[in-house]
Amino acid sequence: MNRRHFAQTALLFAAERYARAARGLPELKITEVRAIPTSAGANYSWVFLKILTSEPGLYGIGSASNINEAPAIVTAIKEQYTPFWIGKNPDRIEDLWQSTNVRTYWRNSTVQNNILSALDMALWDIKGKRAGMPVYELLGGKVRDAVPIYAHADGRDPNEVIENVRQYMDEGYRHVRAQMGGYGGGGMIPAGKGSRPAAGFNGSAFDEDIYLEHIPKLFEQIRAKLGPEVKLLHDVHEHLTPTGAVEFAKRMEPYRMFFVEDILPPEQIDWFRRIKQVTTTPMAMGELFTSPREYVPLISERTIDFVRCRVSQIGGITAAKKIAGLCEDFGVRTAWQEGGDNDPVNQLAAYHVDLTIPSFGIQEENHFPPVVHDLLPGTAQLRGGYLYGNGEPGLGIDVKEEAALKYPLKPLRPGDSWTTVRGMDGSLVKP
Ligand code: MG
Repeated sequence: MNRRHFAQTALLFAAERYARAARGLPELKITEVRAIPTSAGANYSWVFLKILTSEPGLYGIGSASNINEAPAIVTAIKEQYTPFWIGKNPDRIEDLWQSTNVRTYWRNSTVQNNILSALDMALWDIKGKRAGMPVYELLGGKVRDAVPIYAHADGRDPNEVIENVRQYMDEGYRHVRAQMGGYGGGGMIPAGKGSRPAAGFNGSAFDEDIYLEHIPKLFEQIRAKLGPEVKLLHDVHEHLTPTGAVEFAKRMEPYRMFFVEDILPPEQIDWFRRIKQVTTTPMAMGELFTSPREYVPLISERTIDFVRCRVSQIGGITAAKKIAGLCEDFGVRTAWQEGGDNDPVNQLAAYHVDLTIPSFGIQEENHFPPVVHDLLPGTAQLRGGYLYGNGEPGLGIDVKEEAALKYPLKPLRPGDSWTTVRGMDGSLVKP
């Protein structure tokens, strides 16, 4: 073949490719739906959704993980949702989202939101694979080069916390969350200590006044030792009374926080109006939210600075992109929640949204052991305070289904969990 003939043939191929693309692709159908529950070779309670299509080899993956309700999610996918989805066109993401959301008539249940989110991620994955593009390209393309993440530093006392924050700074992290003594830490009276009711609760107990005393002092020391540059975050885990929350926000003001997270339980979110009036400490809220009725007023009234929803709990990529748009209009920023119980598919869904939204604030980090990277090839990489995907079409991640199913879900531990913190008199302190 001479050079001229070769060039003509190449041109013909290009024209044919273009004509085929411009005609659109043949209509797809959902042919099979699988729930993949797994503890992933560790202690996770993850449920992945796999949507298979009429195009051989084309499928999508989504995250339906919910550490507290995994068995209910598996059953609901199989019994309730699969019959509704089979035969539908997976290209119609928005319509499938909307119709799935009202299929149960009642909406905003946690289980339904997890499944809706997983469906949405899987459909975006399919569309990306079909287009030969990563999902972030379909969402409008990158507005940043990588996704900044914040690390989790903890310690038994201020010196240990400071050392751990410093280590993350040395690794390149610009944002670090600092806690002291884990969940509720800084405000716990040790088990068996203090004046207790006879024959009553004897476990580790939360006390708001102790918390208000210890945590601002911790941050005073962090700033004194580590200087003004590091961006500091702290998670209250919702344990304060409304006036305690107002007081705490004021006491944290001198330490110029990047944000204080979940200062109130979701039942008391109207109090954010009060907090905003008396302090400039930035507020982040929303990892417990499941309904737009919770986050829309906080964003539109500008009473929070960061919205913290979990992408797999509020409706997936489609919902997160809409929330980010609302945030952009009202000057609020995003800080999608991750947390140790979360999975790599949800993390990547958040990543694709993060890359494309002007209202991005920060992304919570989550790192996984090597066994998870083996089970889920394409799991995002964390390097120097940034999150990196692989640029492959779709979400860029897969689940080795057979290997994952070899690690079944573990039965729920009986009795109380970290969600049921109690005070000295044995009464519940709501998360
Ligand atoms: Mg939190």
